[in-house]
Amino acid sequence: MAMKSGSDYKESLKQRNINVYAFGEKIEEVTAHPLFQPHVEAASLTYELAFDPSTEDLVTAKSHLTNKKINRFTHIHQSTDDLIKKVKLLRLIAGKTGSCYQRCVGWDAMNATYSVTFEMDQELGTDYHQRFRKYLEYIQENDLMVAGSMTDPKGDRSLTPGKQKDPDMFVHVVEKNDKGIVIRGAKAHMTGIVNSHEMLVMPTMAMGEDDKAYAVACAFPVDTEGVIHIFGRQTNDERRTGDGGEIDQGNAKYGTVGGEALTILEDVFVPWERVFMCEEAQYAGLLVERFASYHRQNYGGCKAGVSDVIIGATTAMAQSSGVDKASHVRDKVVEMVHLTETLYCGSIACSCEGAATPSGAYYVNPLLANTVKQNVTRFIYEIARLSHDISGGCMATLPSEKDLNHPEVGKYVKKYFKGVEGVSTEDRMRIARLVENMTGGTALVESMHGAGSPQAQRVMILRQANLGHKVKLAKKLAGIKDKEKDL
Ligand code: SF4
Ligand code: FE
Repeated sequence: MAMKSGSDYKESLKQRNINVYAFGEKIEEVTAHPLFQPHVEAASLTYELAFDPSTEDLVTAKSHLTNKKINRFTHIHQSTDDLIKKVKLLRLIAGKTGSCYQRCVGWDAMNATYSVTFEMDQELGTDYHQRFRKYLEYIQENDLMVAGSMTDPKGDRSLTPGKQKDPDMFVHVVEKNDKGIVIRGAKAHMTGIVNSHEMLVMPTMAMGEDDKAYAVACAFPVDTEGVIHIFGRQTNDERRTGDGGEIDQGNAKYGTVGGEALTILEDVFVPWERVFMCEEAQYAGLLVERFASYHRQNYGGCKAGVSDVIIGATTAMAQSSGVDKASHVRDKVVEMVHLTETLYCGSIACSCEGAATPSGAYYVNPLLANTVKQNVTRFIYEIARLSHDISGGCMATLPSEKDLNHPEVGKYVKKYFKGVEGVSTEDRMRIARLVENMTGGTALVESMHGAGSPQAQRVMILRQANLGHKVKLAKKLAGIKDKEKDL
């Protein structure tokens, strides 16, 4: 089997027997349903661009397992150059989709599991890493899309997994036998899962010995028996499913963010060869930390690409209104560019300062990666605010595409929503709807909570900050002889 093309990918999704619910209905075929098509199209680009000579250097890599050419979204980073290419790749694709193409979550999950299983085996004498390598080879050979599955519903956040009234609030092992394990629970906010092939389950947080049944990492197809997906709503999603127009959707081809689902695991059997952690609670925290940092690295890549589109759309809005030369507008655009490039700088920096793990796989600098994502939780809101400021109120009050084309009132919409000569009202509406789609509702919340909530980054930032070293620097300069134990 070789790398899949975009159409191979779409065709392969049809071979699944996946159990998906949305809007109170069971979905017969995800790839044929307007609610999911934009997400399928966005993910499909991660396949398609591997065959484009102008992008293949970024989108493909050489497998360190087989030496074969593979899609980079299945690659284990072998150098800082690989980490940098990842960021460039994410920005490139986001600039083409203006939305999330979902495939990075599984990529990060695979990289994190690869290095952590190696270290587990070294210390514990287990064989998780060998199992994982076989799984990875299967993923690479078949060019599969993997949904990284970390976040548990968590119930009462003040209680540990074992203290929850309902034990299913965290995914846990309910049975172990000769053939494998049975797990129960759910994974929330599952980006791209309904158009993935596999899911790679990881623990959601550091675990203590009391919670070892919850320390589980394993993989299985998304259509395994007992797996049910309930698709989440997005802002304005009825514009896709109703009889509204293509213009009203803003980004009809690629949609808004990733398409998330709540995935129920109702006594799912996983054979031992697909189990990569089972009750080794002491390694749960490390796996979470690795995955989170890899995923936070991404955000100055994909969100920079998304912001490139927002900046372009905002500039086009300003041009259509004749305000693009106003100095305050230009200054606000400069600010948007500055914020975007600051995000990108962070992602490039955490990649350049990456280092090899004992497995040989490269890991980002976690302090810088968490800093990038923390910036995203602020800067994307500011970029959206500036875009709204420049784009004007019509973005929020535009009539529908049907009114634009209405036999009686269409002429008024065309007349009164027109800006400068040379730009049609329809084009102006298209850009305004794109801005609306990319800067509101679900899109913003994703920037806040995707790859972990801001507080999760602050915990990591404090842990990585090496405050003791900073205190030493200060005391030395201040001429204080520290007799106390080092901080
Ligand atoms: Fe990838 Fe960005 Fe989507 Fe996360 S939000 S899956 S990093 S494109
Ligand atoms: Fe995400």
